[in-house]
Amino acid sequence: MKVAKFGGSSVASAEQLKKVARIIKDDSERRVIVVSAPGKRSAEDIKVTDLLINLGEAYRLGNPHQKELNAVLTRFESIIKDLNLSNQVLTEIQDDVTKIFADGGAIEFKLEAIKAIGEDSLAKLLSEYLLTLGLNARYLNPKDAGLILSDQPGSAQILDESFEQLYKLRESKEIAVIPGFFGYTKKGKLVTFSRGGSDITGSIVAAGVEAELYENFTDVDSVYCVNPNIVDQPKEITSLTYKEMRELSYAGFSVFHAEALIPAFKAKIPVCIKNTNNPNALGTIIVSEKEVRGNPVVGIASDKGFMSLYVSKYLMNREIGFGRRLLNILEDEGISYEHTPSGIDDLSVILRADQMTEEKEQIVINRIEHELSPDLVYTERGLALVMIVGEEMHCHIGTAARATRAFEEANVNIEMINQGSSEVSLMFGIKEDGVERAVQALYHAFFEINTI
Ligand code: ASP
Repeated sequence: MKVAKFGGSSVASAEQLKKVARIIKDDSERRVIVVSAPGKRSAEDIKVTDLLINLGEAYRLGNPHQKELNAVLTRFESIIKDLNLSNQVLTEIQDDVTKIFADGGAIEFKLEAIKAIGEDSLAKLLSEYLLTLGLNARYLNPKDAGLILSDQPGSAQILDESFEQLYKLRESKEIAVIPGFFGYTKKGKLVTFSRGGSDITGSIVAAGVEAELYENFTDVDSVYCVNPNIVDQPKEITSLTYKEMRELSYAGFSVFHAEALIPAFKAKIPVCIKNTNNPNALGTIIVSEKEVRGNPVVGIASDKGFMSLYVSKYLMNREIGFGRRLLNILEDEGISYEHTPSGIDDLSVILRADQMTEEKEQIVINRIEHELSPDLVYTERGLALVMIVGEEMHCHIGTAARATRAFEEANVNIEMINQGSSEVSLMFGIKEDGVERAVQALYHAFFEINTI
């Protein structure tokens, strides 16, 4: 049994939904389908979820909101018309909106319910369309499927008890079409995952039914080994491990919602990323263990927007608790850190810069000066992280040498090197303006020459 999840671009229009139906029809193992809300049809288009957020926002501000509601209805109307479906879903959207706004209760739960209308309506439409094609499909609400989530609007987490109920889906004779992105709390309140969370639903359902495969349909043939906006037509990755995918998505690979890997990873369900527009392409498969392939590096990732906090104090290595007290200050100020490369008398803390406002930075520096009496403390903004990733790195000699040579050839200064303890990645901190050059040089070193 396979679970297939179709993302926003795969369900953006009637034309796309026809492709989706063909894919479902082509393989009788595809018995559970999870869908996103309609996404963008072109670069200028607006995702239905964003239209719904606008609708909720207008309501929250006490403004008229008919225009925002019409924008949502129009998107679904065009799908309905082109697929010759009934107008039932349009009536349901209007009724739902009226009911959600009229009900008592906290505003944040109302906004959650509004946000979920995109997925919910699309799942209803797709199941109706599959029925017209002679497929035995039915819409299945996440509550009936058994998706019980924590009480955290906008960032809900799955509760373990969901899995037992989900397993029963295996017995279903019909093709179940489940809206992604949301579930219900124990008290029956609708809550959503974080944005892009239909991937999470798909992965949870795949784990719940113990699927042989979780297919994640999107609009690319496969995952590329490097960002195609930096390297022209890079090589495709045919297979990689969960660990490698996690490392890559940490630093800029945005193919897949990182959190979505957890349920599939725990249940060891293979995940295949495929293209709705070219379903015959093999795609990229993510597995728990992979056979030896020879190249120590499977992918190169990069991400901008980091900063470092540098602290130096003579004899720091002998001062017990120095690191803890420094990190405590960050914790007190609500700042999460990414890495802490250190020397004998100095320590750098690498952070995502967007959480450190100028004001907060001043507070942190003052506290460090006052509480830790360092010789020197300063911050540096405009940093980027570049990572090379591959599980086979641990058994290849000279990988770091090849990488540093590439930085040299690109004329990029390395400010920090960090090899994760598991030896799955090697991370370099550099100035943001060198990222493109560095990534291109690394690609050349690991994928164009000398690949063994
Ligand atoms: N529709 C939701 C969003 O845009 C969830 C998803 O598409 O996965 O974030």
